[in-house]
Amino acid sequence: MPLQKKKNKSKEPSRFFKTPKGMHDILPSDQPYWDRIDRTARELADFYNFGRIETPILEFADLFHKTVGEETDIVQKEMYVLKTKGGDILALRPEGTAPVARAYLEHSLGRVSQPQKLFYQGPMFRHENPQAGRYRQFSQIGFEIIGGSNDPIYDTQIILVFHRLLESLKIKNANLKINSIGCRVCRPLYKRQLQAYYKNHEKNLCPDCVWRLKINPLRLLDCKRETCEKIKEKTPNVLDKLCSMCSTHFKTVLEYLDELQVPYTLDNQLVRGLDYYSRTVFEIFAEGPGRELGALPGGGRYDYLMELLGGHLTPAVGGACGIERLIAVMKAQDIKLGAKSSRRVFVAHAGEMAKKKCLKLVEDLRGAGIATSEGLARESLTAQLKIADREGVPIALILGQREIYEERVIIRDLRTGLQETVPLHRIVEEIKRRWRDTQ
Ligand code: AMP
Repeated sequence: MPLQKKKNKSKEPSRFFKTPKGMHDILPSDQPYWDRIDRTARELADFYNFGRIETPILEFADLFHKTVGEETDIVQKEMYVLKTKGGDILALRPEGTAPVARAYLEHSLGRVSQPQKLFYQGPMFRHENPQAGRYRQFSQIGFEIIGGSNDPIYDTQIILVFHRLLESLKIKNANLKINSIGCRVCRPLYKRQLQAYYKNHEKNLCPDCVWRLKINPLRLLDCKRETCEKIKEKTPNVLDKLCSMCSTHFKTVLEYLDELQVPYTLDNQLVRGLDYYSRTVFEIFAEGPGRELGALPGGGRYDYLMELLGGHLTPAVGGACGIERLIAVMKAQDIKLGAKSSRRVFVAHAGEMAKKKCLKLVEDLRGAGIATSEGLARESLTAQLKIADREGVPIALILGQREIYEERVIIRDLRTGLQETVPLHRIVEEIKRRWRDTQ
């Protein structure tokens, strides 16, 4: 048969609606990743004593103008802004820290025990150019420590909780990059030196960097274009320009990380995209498969953010990690989630009368807290057991005419094929015994 040319389906207009660009459905097949990450983040929050906070998806757009910074890409190009019928200008939140800071001030959380250790999780929105690891709707897990003092122990604890998150998810080759970008005293000096250096290379800079040079020189270090990367190689080192307070602060963070045996790489060109950072900044990448997706967690200290919102100077440090990127890296590294089904049984019937009994058996098992799957709408036992096989459920409970008559049930180990019958009233006890034995 002659080979037929495949039709290029992507060129045909779809008859169906699709998700807007950069937005995704999360299908049941991906749900186990979301569940695992969600569970792990909650357990860590619980262990390290972070209280969960949830803020609205819509905030006043000005909140982000004031905090994230007028000159950042997020505010200039990426915010989804809308006008309500009442005339309010709202934005779909592009990040979580500013809303948490707003909530801290609005609910006077500074009056309760300090610092406040807060944890959040939820969708963020940025009108970016979609590519691998970069979406327009994505979800973040965030940890923030707000208030109290600017003790370097808090910077370390934030980094540690993200380090543990990746470790618990079995992500390999995590590379923590860390830097300090100084404070109000030393940063202006460094910025001037950076400007002076870049002024000499202005004619070779990309148009964005020419603009950054005037408006926000620290962001020059963020540019990934080849020509600008070359110029970046010889920039003055921010760590040499830190004031003594910032220098001691940074050294102490590193000492604490050493104590915890959390490995790190110094990266004096790491500045982060948002304006509100001071002193410690960090990002964690997965080297090897998944590296191209960009930073997993990223964050830093933001001691001046509360002031920008009209509050008092309030020390704070935090970070956020994209969940979609975590999942993409877990897939790229072929990280197995472990069978969800190992603590699940499959109920199967042979015959119409048994089907009815099975319906009740499933509910009895649910009441006893035993996760159960079934394929009761299928008539053939073979077809039902195929479903069990597909789901990877290790134990099947089978009811036929004879079992109903004897008030017994067949319990079959689907991995070995071995089976026995047990009295129906003892089935819960028997399943739990088997689970205990396989612990
Ligand atoms: P940021 O809020 O920009 O500091 O980002 C913190 C983390 O959120 C990043 O390190 C990523 O893991 C994730 N992230 C940021 N922007 C996106 C995006 N457009 N799509 C997917 N994940 C993102």
